[in-house]
Amino acid sequence: MSALSMTSGSGDFPTDRHGWAELLPERQASRPLNGDRRVAWAVIGAGVTGLASARRLAELHPDREILLLDARLLCQGASGRNSGFAVAVSHFAGGLNADRIESWRRVNRINQAGLDLLREQVAKPAFDCQWREDGFLHAAADRAAIRECSHFLRYLEAMEIAHTPLDAQTLSARLGTAHYRTGVHVHEGALLQPAALVRGLADSLPANVRLHELSPVLAIEKGAPLTLKLPKGEVRADNLILATNHEAVKLGFLRRYLTASTLSGSFTRVLNDEELAGLGSEKEWGILSLHSGGATVRLTADRRLCLRNTAEYNGAALLSDRQLADRQSIHRAGFERRFPQLAHVPFEYAWSGVEGISRNSTNFFGRKGDNIYLAGGYNGSGVSRGTAFGTALADYASGGHSSLIDDCLASAPGAWIPPRPFLDIGALLTVRSRFRGVGLDR
Ligand SMILES: Cc1cc2nc3c(=O)[nH]c(=O)nc-3n(C[C@H](O)[C@H](O)[C@H](O)COP(=O)(O)OP(=O)(O)OC[C@H]3O[C@@H](n4cnc5c(N)ncnc54)[C@H](O)[C@@H]3O)c2cc1C
Repeated sequence: MSALSMTSGSGDFPTDRHGWAELLPERQASRPLNGDRRVAWAVIGAGVTGLASARRLAELHPDREILLLDARLLCQGASGRNSGFAVAVSHFAGGLNADRIESWRRVNRINQAGLDLLREQVAKPAFDCQWREDGFLHAAADRAAIRECSHFLRYLEAMEIAHTPLDAQTLSARLGTAHYRTGVHVHEGALLQPAALVRGLADSLPANVRLHELSPVLAIEKGAPLTLKLPKGEVRADNLILATNHEAVKLGFLRRYLTASTLSGSFTRVLNDEELAGLGSEKEWGILSLHSGGATVRLTADRRLCLRNTAEYNGAALLSDRQLADRQSIHRAGFERRFPQLAHVPFEYAWSGVEGISRNSTNFFGRKGDNIYLAGGYNGSGVSRGTAFGTALADYASGGHSSLIDDCLASAPGAWIPPRPFLDIGALLTVRSRFRGVGLDR
């Protein structure tokens, strides 16, 4: 086999027992793939992108079996480890830029399509993932974020997006923290428990999708059919959807265009009635920071406060237990700044997750060879967008046409990422700039 016709992976897919999946009841995993298989369609990656692709392929090809493979257990990728904001409206930092309005509208159409798909999938058949569709708050505590709030308001007005500006007093009455000076409620968008979403989506897949967890694809031998090499078997597939997020690079795709950043946060234990009563008038909410390095904060349906406020380049890996323990002091400081009245409430879990990022904040969608299609790299905003990309990719790979496919295809090409050690230096500087001026918003 020549090097050109074979892409191979490192076979290294570590995970840990931290995160939202730990808050769910035990479940029986699907069997790893064992032996040889011949299929028309294979999907690699069972995050929101791969789940959406597999679902759509199953609808389009009801007489075919769709094979869905994941290297890990369900919920161990970013889709089960994010902060649970399914956005309809992206926040593009900086002032209003007339040249970019069309591209912003395109991204928001994709977000909205993903949100609409998720709403339908969560409802039919209904499963519980703490879905709550009442939008979210974008808030600011310090100077840079306060300035950004006025940019954001101008953007929302220019784009005619439904929203309500909020002052410090209203924010404090709603959230039980006097921390924020200004903010805005964007009406569209849903909050959810990410691991419960992934699990519910997987459990409700059409009957012609066959999921195999703990089934890493180690190499792809190109050809017609393609051959996927796994530790205990081989899959020969006519068509392949690659929904492996930043780990596409391990299989030789987007090596110089896709990298990753590792984020971390913590959850408190469940709050008691008295603690909850001190938290303002709303019993469930989510706050996105108006500063790129600011904290994402949630009061969850199961009465926990959750705060994520670190991001770093960690070689596209989860944080070790020691790193996580260290980052927890940063989570704790952010938590106590906002909720001094709850300083006695301990954290019960800390978690980390790895998001796929490009240098120019673009997303990847399209054909990567005669019969290989890829979507991914959503730069920290992939719950609704990944669902839309995954669905559109299945349509596109099946020869379909739609305005959603056109919107996804219009994503800008990725900017070139240098190899190590320049990558490490660049990543360090990028992360530093993400936190510049964050102040009280962290
Ligand atoms: C901490 C954190 C917070 C975030 N918060 C939000 C948020 O609030 N809202 C939002 O919209 N986005 C958020 N994001 C981003 C969002 O989670 C991701 O963009 C999205 O989940 C990506 O979905 P995906 O299906 O493309 O990738 P993933 O969910 O990463 O799934 C890829 C899957 O592919 C599998 N895989 C990889 N390689 C192989 C292989 N060779 N063989 C077999 N399987 C393989 C992996 O095991 C994984 O399960 C956040 C991300 C993080 C890390």
